Amino acid sequence: MPTPRLVAFDLDDTLAPSKSAIDPRIGELLLALAERVEVAIISGGQLAQFTAQVVDLLPETDGDHLAHFHLLPTCGTQYYRISPAGIETIYARTLSDDQKQRALAAVEGEARRLRLWESETWGPILEDRGSQITFSALGQQAPVDAKTAWDPTGEKKNSLREAVQALLPDLEVRSGGSTSVDITERGIDKAYGMNRLAEQTGIPLGDMLFVGDRLDENGNDYPVLAMGVECHAVEGWHDTAAFLETLIPTLPAR
Ligand SMILES: [Mg+2]
Repeated sequence: MPTPRLVAFDLDDTLAPSKSAIDPRIGELLLALAERVEVAIISGGQLAQFTAQVVDLLPETDGDHLAHFHLLPTCGTQYYRISPAGIETIYARTLSDDQKQRALAAVEGEARRLRLWESETWGPILEDRGSQITFSALGQQAPVDAKTAWDPTGEKKNSLREAVQALLPDLEVRSGGSTSVDITERGIDKAYGMNRLAEQTGIPLGDMLFVGDRLDENGNDYPVLAMGVECHAVEGWHDTAAFLETLIPTLPAR
């Protein structure tokens, strides 16, 4: 591929284990990458996860490199940059109150009907992320092993997704992480976020590279591959670190 001008990353299971902090090695590599190209992170998660998992853990730097980071929580319905003063909002779109109420009612009703509404969870099952309503079967803070065990085939999550989508024809219902279902405006996925990234940076999609762990057809990174962006598939952050160690030396310094 031609040398990318921007490298975009999925967050969970690409830069860090799900809902966990980055390893110091990833922090060093992201900064080294930002010395050469623009660095974007795009995830279904919200800004608080970006700061807790990545931004707060980046190594000390003079601030210049941080200006090359682009943060796109909730698949790019929100867009932030890092300035010396802190996190700077470029834009943030939200669902209407009516859309939120209908989404919350539909997902809870269908989860109960399908017997997927768990009574013992790690934190709330439903979350209003502004631009997205998220259902997490075992709660937002559920440990990775519990989540993996809950729905190893993806069957529960997919049946819930289909049932909720049938009730919300004007909204989009998508599989998120291993136990989660996300409800957004129609047409909001990581491809949407990549298009906003191209608009905001002026960098064409053809000059971008995307790194993610779920580029398979049912994965939440797949829309980026489907839109024709160059993609690199990884299986966890160790894989991402190894890839960056080979990629970074091939990129020209600014
Ligand atoms: Mg992922």
